[in-house]
Amino acid sequence: MSIKTRFPPSPTGYLHIGSLRTALYNYLLAKKLGGTFLLRVEDTDQSRLVEGAVENLLTTLKVAGINHDEGPVLNEDGSITSVGDNGPYVQSERLDIYKEHAQKLLDGGHAYYCFCSKERLDEVRKQQQIAKMQTKYDRKCVGLDQAEALKRIEAGESYVVRLQIPDGETTFADEVRGSITISNSEIDDQVLVKADGFPTYHLAVVVDDHLMGVTHVVRGEEWISSVPKHVVLYNAFNFTLPVFAHLPLILNPDKSKLSKRQGDVAVEDFLKKGYLPEALNNFVALLGFNPSGDQEVYSMQELIDAFDLKKINKSGAIFDPVKLGWMNGVYIKAMDHDELVKKTQNIFDEAGESVDSELLSKMLVVEKERLTVLNEMLERTQMYTTTPEYDDEILVWKKSDKADALKQLTDVLVVIESIDDATFSKKELIEEVVKEYISSNELSNGNVLWPMRVALSGQKNSPGPFDMAWVLGKEEAVARLTTAVEKLS
Ligand code: GLU
Repeated sequence: MSIKTRFPPSPTGYLHIGSLRTALYNYLLAKKLGGTFLLRVEDTDQSRLVEGAVENLLTTLKVAGINHDEGPVLNEDGSITSVGDNGPYVQSERLDIYKEHAQKLLDGGHAYYCFCSKERLDEVRKQQQIAKMQTKYDRKCVGLDQAEALKRIEAGESYVVRLQIPDGETTFADEVRGSITISNSEIDDQVLVKADGFPTYHLAVVVDDHLMGVTHVVRGEEWISSVPKHVVLYNAFNFTLPVFAHLPLILNPDKSKLSKRQGDVAVEDFLKKGYLPEALNNFVALLGFNPSGDQEVYSMQELIDAFDLKKINKSGAIFDPVKLGWMNGVYIKAMDHDELVKKTQNIFDEAGESVDSELLSKMLVVEKERLTVLNEMLERTQMYTTTPEYDDEILVWKKSDKADALKQLTDVLVVIESIDDATFSKKELIEEVVKEYISSNELSNGNVLWPMRVALSGQKNSPGPFDMAWVLGKEEAVARLTTAVEKLS
């Protein structure tokens, strides 16, 4: 039998980095085992709906290259349709299905109507807290006469439908955590249908996973406490249980739970800052999953080949931004140069800054070695595009003095002026000419190259003098060297 995995986000407005990991693992598992990967929109909490959230979600997943086989898709014209025969894939369009299933539970004695007010429930909870008891519904409405209940509903009384947890205990297997058993006395009579008529997550997720043919439920550890209720529901419906795998928490380097602040964890923000989707995937894939060996850089295909639920760790995974930066740098360096120029150009366009593409290409040749995110280019290009302002002092190398710096700059300016355009078009050739000048005049590299580099960049720390000269071009290099000579004169 072919397997089916799923990613069922609630459209909250952005894709959390932890959700990217969930989506990715489900994708990897489906691809590895030749199965199907399904996307479902869980929008039953109407109070949390955010406009445009579904479009945003679909766009981000697409950019990340995590493509689903079934579920809603965003078309070029902005409309949303769906692929697959198990839809609708948006829960708010499946209300009749949940209603029908809730009715089955009521008819089978697995659920009951509850008319308790919020005030009463708050009071019950308060009393339980005072008595240091587990807080859960006290079952006042269990056993209400059905005909009586229906009359109250007809009369317009507000109600919910609750799951009636049977006596006994519930056991399920988790691929990461092993076998888990819990006494049913610890499980609350979960609300399945809310007063607004919408199902809760618990009812909808079980019904949908079953009807949509999901075989593997892989999701964050925060959901594991809901599984006993779900198992009770699966049993009440006589549905076959899927395979469960709950992924370890993602933690900050100080081991606290990863921030929920959107700016720190939204995938689209990482993409906007210039993290590459391939690097993000690679990085999140390794949060809680250890392919063997110490390889760190994996292509999507390598991840698919290596993926195994058995290799998922139990302990929390540290989200190390420094490692993410490093990994992004690896991908930047390995990227096709024209593609890199194009992506960076987009960043400039989005920031409303204009940049000459030939100049950008040259700057990237030099700068890509040390970039961690593409957006850093917005700042780094300043050094090349605006006349530097700096203190004369920094032109003087630590083993030299002002007079020597002036002499070296004056002389090297003549050398640079003498280089023809063809030679200036290759940084290796510029280097050859200047090095030849240094050795034939028995000068020291430091005395010449330090002031030359600072004159070109205006900074103590910068790319090397030949890189700088090449990116700036002869005219600008000559102008900057001339300014430096004037400053020291
Ligand atoms: N809608 C839930 C969420 O927002 C899905 C949980 C699950 O995978 O069952 O994460």
